[in-house]
Amino acid sequence: MITALSLLGAFAAGFALWILFEYLLHRFAMHQLHGRGIMSREHLHHHIAAGWTFSFLHLLSWAGMLIVGFVLWLPLGWITVSLPFGITTAVGWTAGYFFYEHQHAQAHLRAPRNGYETWLRKHHFHHHFGHPMANHGVTLPIWDRVFGTLEVPDQVRVPRRMAQAWMLGPDGEIRDEFAADYVLVGTATTTSERQSQLDKVRAFASIAPED
Ligand SMILES: [Zn+2]
Ligand SMILES: [Zn+2]
Repeated sequence: MITALSLLGAFAAGFALWILFEYLLHRFAMHQLHGRGIMSREHLHHHIAAGWTFSFLHLLSWAGMLIVGFVLWLPLGWITVSLPFGITTAVGWTAGYFFYEHQHAQAHLRAPRNGYETWLRKHHFHHHFGHPMANHGVTLPIWDRVFGTLEVPDQVRVPRRMAQAWMLGPDGEIRDEFAADYVLVGTATTTSERQSQLDKVRAFASIAPED
């Protein structure tokens, strides 16, 4: 019999499955492949640009994760429990994935508005600028804790040329309210051709960008 509780369990299972894949895909399919395959290459370009802009490739990724939910998790939940359970697991997976996509884009695009967003930005920008082989989870630190890749820096170093617009005041320095969490390093505000080649080499080796 289908109960509200079993559907809630299915949704939570789907959501939790995404949180695990968020970690595994980011660590193994993006960073450890060092640019082999479209997923890894696009992600490492995200590290070079250090910003978020919408591109056609996002549509591919959104469609891909929807397909995984409804072609893989739905039948699996259907076979093992029931059709409604399978559907709700796929919905939970999709919700987890879009929660991640939304939070990640927002982290790059706007200042935090609550404690969770403050934590997420610090955690994720340490991954970008401090140690790309740490903090692979974006929305939750659970799997980083389990696999020993969690790092909690006192302050996140941010190469000046890669600073997110929301971090900076009109004088181009870190805003007072973020000064305890972020420190600018380096002097260049724009990226020269030589610097962008260097940034690429380091991003594809999953090494933090230089000052
Ligand atoms: Zn990012
Ligand atoms: Zn990354």
